[in-house]
Amino acid sequence: MKTATGNSAPALSAARCWQAVLRRNRWFDGVFVYGVRSTGIYCRPSCAARKPQRKQAQFFALPASAERAGYRACLRCHPQRSGEDAVAAERVLEMCQYIDAHIMERLTLGYLALVFNLPARQLAKMFRQVAGLTPQQYQAAARLNQFKGAVRGGARITTAMHAAGFSSSSRLYSASFGLTPRSYARGAAGQRIWQHVARCYLGYVLVAATERGVCAVELGASRSALLRRMRAEFPQAHLLPGDVRLRHWVAAILRDLTGRGPVAALPLDVRASVFQAQVWRALQTIPSGETRTYQQVAVGIGRPRAVRAVAQACAANPVALLVPCHRVVRAGGALAGYRWGVARKQALLLREQRRKTQRK
Ligand SMILES: [Zn+2]
Repeated sequence: MKTATGNSAPALSAARCWQAVLRRNRWFDGVFVYGVRSTGIYCRPSCAARKPQRKQAQFFALPASAERAGYRACLRCHPQRSGEDAVAAERVLEMCQYIDAHIMERLTLGYLALVFNLPARQLAKMFRQVAGLTPQQYQAAARLNQFKGAVRGGARITTAMHAAGFSSSSRLYSASFGLTPRSYARGAAGQRIWQHVARCYLGYVLVAATERGVCAVELGASRSALLRRMRAEFPQAHLLPGDVRLRHWVAAILRDLTGRGPVAALPLDVRASVFQAQVWRALQTIPSGETRTYQQVAVGIGRPRAVRAVAQACAANPVALLVPCHRVVRAGGALAGYRWGVARKQALLLREQRRKTQRK
């Protein structure tokens, strides 16, 4: 994902920004600020001040860009502080991408501090606040994840998991498809889960995350239906409104949906059997704008006869879009099923194919 730091326009369209301003949508605090030409003041989207006319409003990704354009910070909503969160979230995403790209190297805090030109203590604090874990924990999880993707066969995976310090109970249910298995108790008892629903061209998208990563991405026709589904899925969890970190993840997913940028490699925290994890990893390698058949995926993971099991694993995917199960079709091109409706699958594929053609 491109960082917004050097760029004055928000990642969202002006129309979306304006909608957020009209609704005083707190979700977009930290995602952008808006300046009012007639007063020379800039605000967070949620500011309680009277709303300007549309033609008076100008949108910026960061408070600093608004200030460069001559606006002063509103004394009521202190938008300059919301920008600090946004910068931190972008920087931490960059750090995650860096770690992903240097996964087998020894990355000490001191080394990362040099790479990102930040004092080590500040980097550690920022990373923890945004990602909910240390850079070392993130790397350990990412490394295990990658290793698992490469390993074929249960015995070797078990060995790998033991070597990585996971208990034998995680042998069948390796919740560590995204991150460590400890975070995932049965029914998510006592677990804190943040959730947010946003509108998109597929209806509504709900993104939910534990402190370790995204645990659900659901698509649906209404906000209330999605929230009910979450309650049924995680009956024991404390469901909370989304925090800054989740808001940025939602924004990244929306950017991906509208073709304004590829979805960042967000950390996942989902429960998966070893086989499901293998299938889902394979799906993540299918480029946008392309499809594979269930058969091709089965061959790709070294289980050519497990076509039906591959289809079942696709149907069980809890994170729409992040694990792009919509890119798997029947031999001959028929769309087959989609957990969130075949019409949505078709719409997604059409958009992705069109975008790919435009890129050429
Ligand atoms: Zn304000």
